Amino acid sequence: MLNVTPPAFPAPGSQQRAAAGARSKVPLKPGRSLMDWIRLTKSGKDLTGLKGRLIEVTEDELSKHNKKEDCWICIRGFVYNVTPYMEYHPGGEDELMKAAGTDGTDLFDQVHRWVNYESMLKECLVGRMAVKPIAAPKGVLLEKKVQAASAKDLSPSYDWFQTDSLITIVIYTKQKDMNAELVIVDCQDKQLRGEIIMDDHSYLVEVGLDHEVSEDVAVNIAEKVGKVEIILNKKDNIHWKMLGQPWEGHNTFIKRTDRGLFYRKCKLVSKTEVTHDTKLFCLMLPKGTHLRVPTGQHVYLKQIIAGTEVVKPYTPVLPFLPLDFQEPPRHDGVHIYLMIKIYSHGLFTQALDHLQIGDCISVSNPEGNFKKSQVQASEDLLLLAGGTGFTPMVKLLNFALTEVSCLRTVKLIFFNKTEDDILWRNQLEQLALKDERFEVQFILSEPSKEWVGKQGKISSSLLSEFVKRKRRDSKVLICICGPAPFTEQGVQYLKDLGYSQEEIHAFTA
Ligand code: FAD
Ligand code: NAP
Repeated sequence: MLNVTPPAFPAPGSQQRAAAGARSKVPLKPGRSLMDWIRLTKSGKDLTGLKGRLIEVTEDELSKHNKKEDCWICIRGFVYNVTPYMEYHPGGEDELMKAAGTDGTDLFDQVHRWVNYESMLKECLVGRMAVKPIAAPKGVLLEKKVQAASAKDLSPSYDWFQTDSLITIVIYTKQKDMNAELVIVDCQDKQLRGEIIMDDHSYLVEVGLDHEVSEDVAVNIAEKVGKVEIILNKKDNIHWKMLGQPWEGHNTFIKRTDRGLFYRKCKLVSKTEVTHDTKLFCLMLPKGTHLRVPTGQHVYLKQIIAGTEVVKPYTPVLPFLPLDFQEPPRHDGVHIYLMIKIYSHGLFTQALDHLQIGDCISVSNPEGNFKKSQVQASEDLLLLAGGTGFTPMVKLLNFALTEVSCLRTVKLIFFNKTEDDILWRNQLEQLALKDERFEVQFILSEPSKEWVGKQGKISSSLLSEFVKRKRRDSKVLICICGPAPFTEQGVQYLKDLGYSQEEIHAFTA
């Protein structure tokens, strides 16, 4: 709902398209970009109409503010007067109005849980919701108790022990297929945070350590029994009486969506050109961090721009396309590679491009709903990418060609405007020569006269040419990613061509 993507200077043609097909962006009036909003929030203008006073808001009061000219919304117990923000919301006024006068937390979480509304809307804060006493009927209480008991059975537990030089924290997840991608550890300045991802739940160990430890952290996983060890090196070889002070989220097992996004600072170590406007950023994780971004998932980057926190999602890639798919390439555990297009009027990417080597940027834990098992069950994999929508396809290609033995064909159909826009063209062509299962087709919407390849835009007729079932019962997976209208239209065309929802995966935020 509260999308911070700033429409500073709409690209030619983007306004019509956004109006026609985009679900998440609408053309905004001139002077209504995110930067303009940030300026307004810094102007000292009274945006709540309460002259800086914070009030306690009852449900009744909230419900009265349900019009475009007077619109309050509650998110996680805090009430915001979003009336002045209406024209700046990239998702459009109608999206915002869906939550007018109500608790919009669920709606917000469904669309943009990652958007840092606290920072974006801090000048619109009206106050907190008044707490209402809950009189639950007896039956409900009983049901809750039963739920709590079963959650307890499933929830992981932890223990810790020490030697002269080591502290070992053991987490018993009770989950059989535990792996390194499901364990995220951050240890810095005597603070330890270990998160275990278990489907849509998260278990957290979060303590302020009793004594100092060195920066190196080791993580051991006994995959079959689901045991995770986090091993810390004591700085002084003294005996610890306790592990440390528990933090708020310590030893909790809750839904992932209820856990705030955690960020750590990563250092920019290199920035290399991919095309005229796209660069490969290499970020280095801090020493005390254990983090692997799973195939098909993205991270959020956070920067302070003009005093406001701005967050955008990016999908990590590999440093290059491995041509020798004999062995799964090992994650070096230290670097995250991001292929990012720098928009000449883009708020976030311009700031990103101005980062110097050695500067730091905040990187979140991974998110995304892609499951590798979707590929593992397929014989033919088709990837439809538009522009930087290529990024999730990089790890996906690598995973499919390396680890999925039943896969017969992998076809990438890559849509771009011009030849100069094609990302990693050489590498893709080489891969197609090297691996007979892989085929790539480039389609340009604005080709030069010299272009002898395919041209056009995503359409039903164009897709019907490339997307053909080998057999009536072949197991097919089609993944699609690109500008929102490209993805939405593509999914519709695929359905029109007879592909089922289960055979299509669309990458979105
Ligand atoms: P913006 O300021 O948002 O502007 C971008 C362009 O769009 C500009 O030309 C602007 O004028 C125009 N524009 C913006 N809003 C509107 C509007 N309402 N109407 C008309 N025109 C408008 N990008 C990558 O490069 N690499 C990735 O790996 C990547 N991964 C992503 C993963 C996910 C899950 C998602 C959702 C997006 C991903 N993106 C990726 C896109 C990225 O998150 C940013 O949206 C992108 O970098 C642009 O940010 P910006 O602030 O620089 O540009
Ligand atoms: P671009 O260069 O503007 O366009 C790439 C291709 O998509 C071109 O062939 C273009 O043809 C087509 N296209 C663009 N808009 C279209 C529309 N409205 N309808 C049909 N086709 C359209 O793309 P880009 O600047 O690289 O942007 C890539 C997009 O991918 C961004 O919006 C980014 O947010 C998204 N992305 C999403 C994820 C994810 O969700 N996981 C990951 C990475 C990137 P035309 O000539 O018709 O424009």
